[in-house]
Amino acid sequence: MPHPSDQSTLRSKVAAYFQLLSEYERELYHDPDLKREPPAGGKVLKSAVSTPAKGLNPYPSYAPYDSLTAMNESISGCLRCGLGPTRTKFVFGTGSKNARVVFIGEAPGAEEDRRGEPFVGRAGELLNSMLREIDWRREDVYICNVLKCRPPNNRDPLPEEVTLCEPYLHEQLRILDPEWLVSLGRISAQALLRTTAPLKALRGVVHRYREKPLWVTYHPAALLRNQNLMPDAHQDLLTLQRMIAAGAYQP
Ligand code: SF4
Repeated sequence: MPHPSDQSTLRSKVAAYFQLLSEYERELYHDPDLKREPPAGGKVLKSAVSTPAKGLNPYPSYAPYDSLTAMNESISGCLRCGLGPTRTKFVFGTGSKNARVVFIGEAPGAEEDRRGEPFVGRAGELLNSMLREIDWRREDVYICNVLKCRPPNNRDPLPEEVTLCEPYLHEQLRILDPEWLVSLGRISAQALLRTTAPLKALRGVVHRYREKPLWVTYHPAALLRNQNLMPDAHQDLLTLQRMIAAGAYQP
């Protein structure tokens, strides 16, 4: 049995070790709040990683998290793929934590990147009005993207970006546990379903993703470009609403 004074010394050493480790990690991840003087005779560690907008860890855990809020805070500094350093704002997702339906786009656009929220701007307003037409509200569903950061010039997500970012979507869906998923647009549907099938072949069919039924409809931006598609898009949402009301495809 160690002498009590030895135990006290050991505890002090352990505490000092963890204090040092904590400071090292904060320096490594460029915590902007860290304002300590360089140790006498020593050097402040420099990281090659650029400063994350939020969060401390550029390679945060994919899962598990207790809540969407905790997850957002933890992963918002992610630099796993090449889109991290180029984003203006991280776009996690928005909506009700009790949502029965999760709408999934492909990636943030310019306005989303600027504001940090998915489906804002003209496409977002159109989505909101389409939801209102079937007596749904944006606040009652959940809206997010496959990628959380904007690809330059709104190019399509690269397969490696989807591979690196998709586990975050999986964790969001695990926490939310919705009844239905809706892919907004061909790119989102193709990325999630690992297919190259055209949108017309993907619409009107109930797919499966993460054990949930997945419905595919147009991206609101496509509807802004071609208003002739609006009746079909409206019908897609009505059909989805009827399937949910009928309790079809319960997980
Ligand atoms: S797109 Fe996803 S994987 Fe890439 S940096 Fe952003 S959050 Fe990380």
